[in-house]
Amino acid sequence: MAKASGTKSGKKSDKKSGKKSGKKSSSRSSDKAGTTSDAPAPADDLTARRDAAVELLRARPGLRVADVDARAKPGFDGSRTDGERALAKIGEDLSDLQERLYANGRTGGDRSVLLVLQGLDTAGKGGIVRHVLGLVDPQGVALRSFGVPTPEERRHHYLWRVRRALPPAGRIGVFDRSHYEDVLVARVDELVPPDVWRARYDEINRFEARVAAAGTTIVKVLLWVSPDEQYARLHERLDRPEKHWKYDPSDVDARLRRPAYEAAYQDVLDRTSTDVAPWYVVPADRKWYARLAVSALLHRALSDLDLGWPAATYDVSAERARLEATR
Ligand code: ATP
Repeated sequence: MAKASGTKSGKKSDKKSGKKSGKKSSSRSSDKAGTTSDAPAPADDLTARRDAAVELLRARPGLRVADVDARAKPGFDGSRTDGERALAKIGEDLSDLQERLYANGRTGGDRSVLLVLQGLDTAGKGGIVRHVLGLVDPQGVALRSFGVPTPEERRHHYLWRVRRALPPAGRIGVFDRSHYEDVLVARVDELVPPDVWRARYDEINRFEARVAAAGTTIVKVLLWVSPDEQYARLHERLDRPEKHWKYDPSDVDARLRRPAYEAAYQDVLDRTSTDVAPWYVVPADRKWYARLAVSALLHRALSDLDLGWPAATYDVSAERARLEATR
């Protein structure tokens, strides 16, 4: 990330020439969808800094989630204003990259991206959806929130509702909470016996491996908010009538169980951060930073798909001539 957070100076791609934004140099000139040839984009310093930030956020073995500094800004040394400016710039690239993904999905490509958002109450999942996914065409986003299972969902395996919500080809899927609730709240609130939730980590890993093998890039984000900041955000919800609807008395109960949630999140990171579906722990006390960080993660995931524009399936010159004949 760092100032300008990994965009190529935030410049817009030239759609007509088919030049890619993002980067990830590659000599590949076509993919399954039959895309136009793209000149490899050179790696640049901003991309390198984006990648460095992404690596800093990645959950590595040994990371103690309870020790994460929620006010930190890994990989970014700018101010809030710098961060907001960088987010706007990265948004231009994201929009272009998302359109490529969508276009490829419409023309036979099988790729998609799934952003899994987890976090304690008030961590800012909604803000990520609004401010990061809001930077791209909503037609290309498949958002699904996972709340307390409905009676119908309860009749099925816990992954049933998740499978049905996976993004189709060409989309960016966003899970606001996810199957991880089944090893978080289900464990902390003792909704199922320990042997049941313990068996789920491996099952989730197998599930995610299959999803990834089918063409979905999975990016899992844990937004990490400190107890003090959570207190302030809950307080604000009580103080401001227009935020009362966001307050849920059960948030205080969950807050009291923070140590149990920290232990549950620790196991999630230790047991389910895999090469095909890594976890990223994003400090979330500064909302602007968390949004910038997630935008960088998404940018990297989309850039790595290395998608060009789908080639025309018709004779462009002939069509141009036909069109001219209609004037
Ligand atoms: P949020 O708290 O995410 O901002 P919200 O307040 O609008 O969202 P809902 O989306 O209706 O609430 O539901 C979220 C709640 O559902 C959380 O308390 C979460 O723990 C709970 N939940 C999600 N999945 C499960 C599950 N599999 N089993 C039990 N509870 C779940």
